[in-house]
Amino acid sequence: MIDLHSHSNRSDGALTPSALVERAARRGVKALALTDHDTTEGLSEAGVEAERQGLLLVPGVEISVTWNGRTLHVLGLGIDPTCTRLLSGLAQVRSGRMQRAQAIGGRLASQGLPGAFEAAVSLAANPDMVSRTHFARHMVAVGFVKDMSAAFRRYLGEGKPAYVRHTWTSLGEAIDWIHGAGGLSVLAHPGRYGLRRARLHALFSEFRACGGAAVEVISSSHSAEQVALVAELAPRCGLLASAGSDFHSPEDSWLDLGQLAPLPQGCVPVWDDPKLAILN
Ligand code: AMP
Ligand code: MN
Ligand code: MN
Ligand code: MN
Repeated sequence: MIDLHSHSNRSDGALTPSALVERAARRGVKALALTDHDTTEGLSEAGVEAERQGLLLVPGVEISVTWNGRTLHVLGLGIDPTCTRLLSGLAQVRSGRMQRAQAIGGRLASQGLPGAFEAAVSLAANPDMVSRTHFARHMVAVGFVKDMSAAFRRYLGEGKPAYVRHTWTSLGEAIDWIHGAGGLSVLAHPGRYGLRRARLHALFSEFRACGGAAVEVISSSHSAEQVALVAELAPRCGLLASAGSDFHSPEDSWLDLGQLAPLPQGCVPVWDDPKLAILN
């Protein structure tokens, strides 16, 4: 049981790195990648717990990227979390978050919800990583919306009243940092970017040309149709296939740890790559 995408409270997950690893082990996961957004801070704590539990921890990160005006997420798997170039790149990616959160708070105030900035900051265990997820959790907690999905659909999602445009890093730069840290680059949940077949194919080709190794085929955010489409395009573009729950919290995750479907026929698993040899 391999799960190559998950979050702790060092970014927008709800569990500490140790609690996450403990839950994964309890649910039968044998190898888990901790891939917090724009930070590697949780990896050392997760590594200690993984050793205690006899679980293989794949050191990872999920980098926020701006590509043609759109936000993409690129996972780095098997990275060296002490690589200084990666760390300074991630610090740069995180640097605008507090200001953006302030702006989101302002937008929510004019939508009738004052104090959301302060609440989101206090929900974020890592002051460097205030994310839209923290706003959404607060909005649900005070009954401003009925669930997380409504928070994004009505307020926080792209083009909605509390959406604040932000420029992250470039695709090429994110991949370079990951490679410099000895890792593999995996395009996260490609079905979530609202791209039709032809543009998705173009993105996959560009990702491959920049040095990308794999795309997520199995992801909690993919429908059966999206799994089939990504599984068909990936091998054509020379990309390996990855699988991850994108687990954030026992309360608001679409899929719990340890519940992943197998990769479809025709996909070459990313764990066949020598850089993830620890998984074989
Ligand atoms: P940010 O990096 O601050 O823009 O926050 C992005 C995070 O919001 C993602 O990593 C997801 O965890 C979460 N997110 C995005 N869209 C949704 C959604 N529709 N429902 C629940 N969570 C979402
Ligand atoms: Mn997230
Ligand atoms: Mn993501
Ligand atoms: Mn994620």
